[in-house]
Amino acid sequence: MGAVRTGVLGGTFDPPHLGHLVLAAAARQQLNLDRVLFVPARLPWRKMGREVSEAQVRLRMTEAAVAGFEWAVVSTLEIEREGPSYASVTMQALVADGGDWWFILGADALADLPNWYEPETLLEAARLAFAARDGATEVPFGVVAALPGIEARIDRLAMPNLDVSSTALRAQVREGQATEVLLPHVVRAVIDEAGLYRTA
Ligand code: ATP
Ligand code: MG
Repeated sequence: MGAVRTGVLGGTFDPPHLGHLVLAAAARQQLNLDRVLFVPARLPWRKMGREVSEAQVRLRMTEAAVAGFEWAVVSTLEIEREGPSYASVTMQALVADGGDWWFILGADALADLPNWYEPETLLEAARLAFAARDGATEVPFGVVAALPGIEARIDRLAMPNLDVSSTALRAQVREGQATEVLLPHVVRAVIDEAGLYRTA
């Protein structure tokens, strides 16, 4: 048996949505992954300044979103670790167990990568599985300039453009709009039960 192949999808998942699921599924299929770990951030430090739902309820929503996909696993690694959630620290811890690893991300996250904590460490630990988002399909020049050699560490994923974000969904819930099908109904159930996103 070959090495176990794992993709890691980090995010705030406030809430998780179809974009996250299609992205993870694209990575699994196109990179022949055995599993995808969904890793909700404890403190998404790049989102400081905006209100983020409690980690435990984001964890519950993420578990609901992936229930039934036998290849998807939710990891509490970042939620249980003190302090801000750094992807480089998470990936270093994960790869220590051996196997082949990818960090999965959309174009907005890739564009922000030079501003992350120790991005070089992240690139050493894992390859990147990169998907376009909102029409951004290329690795930005600024990213290549800041992280020379990054292109050789990237595997591109094909996925349909899904015009969905957690930010838009929070607004739709607040305004009482329907959220099917971009927000899985099992996630909407957790949102309604916990009373999330009712105020701006
Ligand atoms: P927010 O609006 O709160 O920032 P989000 O929808 O961007 O939420 P995140 O949790 O920030 O979701 O994203 C986690 C990861 O999933 C990032 O790498 C992001 O690029 C990717 N992602 C999220 N939505 C999509 C989408 N529709 N298409 C491609 N990638 C996506
Ligand atoms: Mg985002």
